[in-house]
Amino acid sequence: MSQKSRIRKRLFNKFSQNLQLVKKHPKIETDPDFTYGYKCPICWRLFAEYDSYTSTGLHLTIEDVPPKSLGGKPILLTCNECNNYAGVRFESQLGQHLTLVDFMKGIPGVSQKSQVIIDNGIKIPGKLISESKDCFKIDVSSKKANPKEYLKLIELLQKGITPKVNLKIKGTNQSFVEVALLRIAYLLAYDFFGFGFLVNQNLMTVRNQILNPLKQIMFNKGIINSAFSDERIGVHLIDEPKDLKSFLVVFQVKTRHNKYNFGVVLPGPGEPGLNIYSNLERYLNEQQKKVPVNIQAIKKRDFISNPELVLAPHQYWRMY
Ligand SMILES: [Zn+2]
Repeated sequence: MSQKSRIRKRLFNKFSQNLQLVKKHPKIETDPDFTYGYKCPICWRLFAEYDSYTSTGLHLTIEDVPPKSLGGKPILLTCNECNNYAGVRFESQLGQHLTLVDFMKGIPGVSQKSQVIIDNGIKIPGKLISESKDCFKIDVSSKKANPKEYLKLIELLQKGITPKVNLKIKGTNQSFVEVALLRIAYLLAYDFFGFGFLVNQNLMTVRNQILNPLKQIMFNKGIINSAFSDERIGVHLIDEPKDLKSFLVVFQVKTRHNKYNFGVVLPGPGEPGLNIYSNLERYLNEQQKKVPVNIQAIKKRDFISNPELVLAPHQYWRMY
């Protein structure tokens, strides 16, 4: 058995056993009912054990959270459709966005693809390489350039003229970047609590937002623009003010040259539920005088396989 197959088997067993324990609760109904299965945490489709070792058709795949290229680890399974869609659509955009942020900060060695436009006429694909906050190098390669355009540039330089240079960097799609962060937070909360966290009607809206990144469903996708220290990394409950009561997931994303901490709020199973997003918008728009926000860190316990703890997110929610 390959290492990947072993990981898939282990993750399938871990989370399907967890789902069995969650289903034992009298108030939890699953339709269709099943005895030993796994639900893709994103699309909520049901999978059997067979789907964790096949690689054809719709099946389960290992998902790194955050994406591997951004320092993540293989911690859970999603279906191949959800996994591939995210990789293509959002994760690459998040990576590009953060690399651009690294470049703008002037971190030495960070490179950025750019179209180099010389004297408003010659267009050559190039690379910008950051050297410091105020200085970067432009690298134009003859291999990728149109030979005629490249020749024009050489002629210009041979004449000793300093050309006027414009740079065009391809931007990223803000919605994809935000949904990538929301998706990471949602999956980390699932990894932390298991299916006990996902049995919450309000999270259907979050899944809907992840599956429809271009639709404006959630304000700001729940991303909190605040500096979170490394000590804050983990899952928390915001319990004050009451109209912002929600779960807060703080996590770290690493680029090749830097690291960034993000905080994203997810709705709990009771009031204010999805209203946290409009409440959050109101707080930010009104720029009220500083409102004290109380954040309780949740200590990691065996939420996955201890039958007493599998519905802990609901217990924490009622406790505060
Ligand atoms: Zn899926």
